[in-house]
Amino acid sequence: MPLAIDHGLIGGLRRAAGGVLDALLPPLCVTCDAPVGRPGEFCAACFGQVTFISRPFCERCGIAFSSADRAGPFGACSACRLHPPRFGRGRAALEYDAFGRALILPLKHADRTELVGALAPIMARAGRDVLTTADVLVPVPLHRWRLLTRRYNQAALLASAVGRIAGVPTAPDGLQRIRPTESLGHATAAERHATVAGAFVVPRSRCEAIAGRRVVLVDDVMTSGATASACAAALFDAGAHTVDVLVAARVPIDDRM
Ligand SMILES: [Zn+2]
Ligand SMILES: [Zn+2]
Repeated sequence: MPLAIDHGLIGGLRRAAGGVLDALLPPLCVTCDAPVGRPGEFCAACFGQVTFISRPFCERCGIAFSSADRAGPFGACSACRLHPPRFGRGRAALEYDAFGRALILPLKHADRTELVGALAPIMARAGRDVLTTADVLVPVPLHRWRLLTRRYNQAALLASAVGRIAGVPTAPDGLQRIRPTESLGHATAAERHATVAGAFVVPRSRCEAIAGRRVVLVDDVMTSGATASACAAALFDAGAHTVDVLVAARVPIDDRM
């Protein structure tokens, strides 16, 4: 009888041991615990489930085009033509579909920070054009109350990992969330814009790092773009030269409210 390896058990043990076992056990796929060549990789089966966003996509918000948008003349989706976002170019690595959620939600809520190692390289690839012109990366901040309960800001982890790959410095505290905002789970786009307007500011101590700079804002997920627009407005108030956006995952056009 072949030796059965319980990869789920190994993955659980490894996480419980907080990385102590990493040197002893084979590296596992970040989403399914199948063995892989290097830590932070997907196995081939999981890689096949990732819906990467590739052209044609909206040049403004990074969303994969519907067939109707593809026929449009401006390189922007209908939502961006109607209400242009405050930021310039938006880029997203993958669709926030079932597999995208399986990647992002554990990073957000279950301390699975090793997922950053899988997401950062594909974000760096998807954002190549905005990263080559970037002076500084700034993560979308959490409010300090939420940071207390969650202990880390997943957008800040993604920003510094992407920055290391792209050779761009990160200003982890370049933006501050001055107002806690309700969860935006079921809000419409208009509600989202109203909720986050004025919720962000560049702290006085960071204005020098932002003024005159080409900033790339980094986040895990973009839904309506309301948060990114509110952050861009704060960065422009502080004198940013340009603001582009790079996210790990983009909510697909049909799910966007
Ligand atoms: Zn896998
Ligand atoms: Zn768009």
